[in-house]
Amino acid sequence: MNGIYLDYQSSKPVDPRVVEAMLPYFREKFGNPSSLHLEGDQATEVLENCREDIARFIHADKDEIIFTSGATESNNLALIGFALRNRNKGNHIVISEIEHISVHNIAKFLEKSGFEVSRIPVDQYGRISLQKLHDRITEKTILVSIGYASNEIGTIQLVSEIGKLCREKGIAFHSDAVAAEGLLPVDVTKDNLDLLTLSSNDIYGPKGLGILYVKEGTKLNTLMIGGGQERGLRSGTENIPAIVGMRKTVEIMQKEMDIEVKRFTQYRDELIRGVLETIPKCHLNGHPQHRLPNNAHFRFDGIEGESLLLSLKDKGISVSTGSACTSKTLEPSHTLIALGLLHEEAHGSLQLTCGRFSQPKDVEKVMEVLPGVVERLRKLSPIYR
Ligand code: PMP
Repeated sequence: MNGIYLDYQSSKPVDPRVVEAMLPYFREKFGNPSSLHLEGDQATEVLENCREDIARFIHADKDEIIFTSGATESNNLALIGFALRNRNKGNHIVISEIEHISVHNIAKFLEKSGFEVSRIPVDQYGRISLQKLHDRITEKTILVSIGYASNEIGTIQLVSEIGKLCREKGIAFHSDAVAAEGLLPVDVTKDNLDLLTLSSNDIYGPKGLGILYVKEGTKLNTLMIGGGQERGLRSGTENIPAIVGMRKTVEIMQKEMDIEVKRFTQYRDELIRGVLETIPKCHLNGHPQHRLPNNAHFRFDGIEGESLLLSLKDKGISVSTGSACTSKTLEPSHTLIALGLLHEEAHGSLQLTCGRFSQPKDVEKVMEVLPGVVERLRKLSPIYR
């Protein structure tokens, strides 16, 4: 990387060790697991070994892992696949107000298809209250989908408690854990999950590969009609190089996650302390304690996050104003609005996320540059007092 990259939430480079592990599967080991010859057998063997290793990472069984093309597809399969299959049991689904845009848009689609969706509000830090969730559950509720942690403000939810409540009520529980994977110990058993979305690119693997964990006995309709791969739930030739890559990322995570998380926490805390102490009229978005170890998210009175982002870009620092999936819309982030922020407050936000290749000098550089940039933009701002 040439400049300073602090937008690991939007995209991460593939770890060179992962690229190395994948290469033979583009060339000599190119078989299709559906073929019956030697190359096909070899591909089946590697596919099933990878499935087993990836399952172990989240404490699942091998047969509970479905490979997809990414988190968006996994969320579609989880929510739409579950809703359509279980319609006879009820037509009510619960999500939160701060779900990833893919879950929000899937929920809108389900509403058009005759389902009812409740969106539970969050507190000022982005946390869901168990009581509010409890109050929204009705006899018709079949599924609750709550993200493990926010990909924007980094707030971590009480996942295992939500799962426990769902289990007691006999309702399926899905979580999109893309923002949390590799940073928190996701465990489908302890977290009482029935469905879980993960993606390869969020743990330094290749883009274009996701998984959906489907607890044994959980019934889904398929959304992809074809050759019947992945237990009939996701037709299409398996992306073996990417699957091998994801297995490698998981192997690396198992060895390095604890040390890495300690390092990220240090960078995050230095950023939060530094920014709040040196820049006046600046606030932390998200939970002060229960937040992802690599996430610092601020808002600055009187300036636009976008101007900040562009000024930092000029100085060789890449940051974000929020989710990359919605960055091209003019609307303020639905997550920030759900926290109770005014539109102008939501527009004044900046997200910094560190990752595997971040270094102490990156934090130092931000602290050297950001106060001056904020001061200059405020001088130009007609709304800053
Ligand atoms: N869920 C979350 C929480 C995300 O942050 C993202 C984007 N990385 C997605 C789903 C969608 O992932 P993809 O675009 O890889 O399908």
